[in-house]
Amino acid sequence: LISRKWRVEPTRIDLGDGVTVGEGNFSIMAGPCSIESEAQIESVVAHLKENNVKIMRGGVFKPRSSPYAFRGLGLDGLKMFHRICRENGIKIITEVMQVSQIEEMIDYVDVFQVGARNSQNFNLLDSLGEAQKPVLLKRGISGTIEELLQAAEYIFSNGNEKIMLCERGIRGYEKAYRNILDLNAVPVLKEKTHLPVIVDPSHGIGLRDYVESMSLAAVMAGADGVIYETHQTPEKAFSDAQQTVDFQESERLIRRMRAAYELR
Ligand code: PEP
Ligand code: MN
Repeated sequence: LISRKWRVEPTRIDLGDGVTVGEGNFSIMAGPCSIESEAQIESVVAHLKENNVKIMRGGVFKPRSSPYAFRGLGLDGLKMFHRICRENGIKIITEVMQVSQIEEMIDYVDVFQVGARNSQNFNLLDSLGEAQKPVLLKRGISGTIEELLQAAEYIFSNGNEKIMLCERGIRGYEKAYRNILDLNAVPVLKEKTHLPVIVDPSHGIGLRDYVESMSLAAVMAGADGVIYETHQTPEKAFSDAQQTVDFQESERLIRRMRAAYELR
């Protein structure tokens, strides 16, 4: 169902208020790795508004490698995130980690993110297929393109066609950066499926100095958008500080991605 053979027309996902993800426009989704506080949300929202970015990312349920690391503000954090974004006309994308969270989160999100670690949580995918909310599905940590497509098929075949695929880097042997951002996947996915393809350069390379290069490369590879991490004071971020860009870098990145998209 997610194949170009089944549907030639590209899928465009309408998030309301004139915000659409898919071919025909380039979507920028930015924000902190984790939602931390009201002041932090407000600072990011102000930055996004200044740059006409309509979708904010931020996790409230965080899949952390260590159980002792910050694991997010949970539902209370999401409600605060939602209130501030609604007041400012910003859409929310945030990660859902388990089936039981869908119902409690659904009224407060615009896009559910399925993280790399849950890319093949088939019960979660089934349930998101039944929920009529857009989903951004990340590629698994060592996931193949075929596995990503099959995971999307779980959601689609359960009745939810509003799916974005996300390349976020795969695990390799190289130690010079966090992951290997597989930009090969972009043209391949664009040919194989009608779904929008989004690139996450932050997790893809894992080092803030290279986020801009990889974002621009993603634009030229044919991505329909990017999702990246930004924070007012990246070095103080509760999670993924090393790959988070500050607002000045973010502003430049936005400007350059838009210019690159015009050239495409
Ligand atoms: C995130 O977006 O902060 C995240 C945890 O991403 P991933 O699932 O790709 O590691
Ligand atoms: Mn992160």
